[in-house]
Amino acid sequence: MSRQISSLLAIAAVCVTLAPAPAFAQDPKKEPVDCSQVKCLALTFDDGPGQYAGTLLDTLKKYDAKATFFLEGQYVKSRPKFVKRMAAEGHELGNHSYKHPDFTKSSEATIKDEIQKTQDAVKAAAGVEPKLLRPPYGMTDVRVSEIAEQFGMPQILWTAGSKDWSLKNVDAIQKQTLAVAKPNGIILMHDWVKQTVDGMPALIKTLQNKGYHLVTVSDVIKGESLEPGDAFPLPEGWEQ
Ligand SMILES: [Zn+2]
Repeated sequence: MSRQISSLLAIAAVCVTLAPAPAFAQDPKKEPVDCSQVKCLALTFDDGPGQYAGTLLDTLKKYDAKATFFLEGQYVKSRPKFVKRMAAEGHELGNHSYKHPDFTKSSEATIKDEIQKTQDAVKAAAGVEPKLLRPPYGMTDVRVSEIAEQFGMPQILWTAGSKDWSLKNVDAIQKQTLAVAKPNGIILMHDWVKQTVDGMPALIKTLQNKGYHLVTVSDVIKGESLEPGDAFPLPEGWEQ
């Protein structure tokens, strides 16, 4: 092959590489949501995948809503298909420990093991690794933050809770969630609470009618420039 032809081929190869990949997986007409311009809300589901995760995923798909799942490694292992589906359908996967111990009362070795085992389980199930950590019970301190930093993950808490785990009532969960929803809010929910999953179609419809775009945590924190180890929102009494 002449030098000229081979260099032309090289240029052609570069052009092919640089051309933007067509977004076949998503609706090509759809622009990415900019949460500095529109009302966004991140629904987050902890401790799963819970036994109702499949129904929840059906609902999220039907209403074109995205969510973030802070997964517990032990359930990732027992329900890997849900985890794979979450990733495939555009939801965000976060790390919520392997067996849910209070990290502030755990040894450094235990915390690291809990985080790593969950990273590995999610990777095995869905082919992706969580980039966000939510420590169990939202309990963190300087030591936990340093370990999160070593894993390269910010710690995501919540702006408000749905209180679903104690209310266990469709109407009450909806009322509480609507009362605390605010632009760029991060709402704590659980996909093991049946009433949360049962009420989700009505809740999503109401939120969307109020103008909310239901997006992932990474979408709502885009403007926060969080560093690994940072906690957001900042727990009471903490200084940046
Ligand atoms: Zn939890």
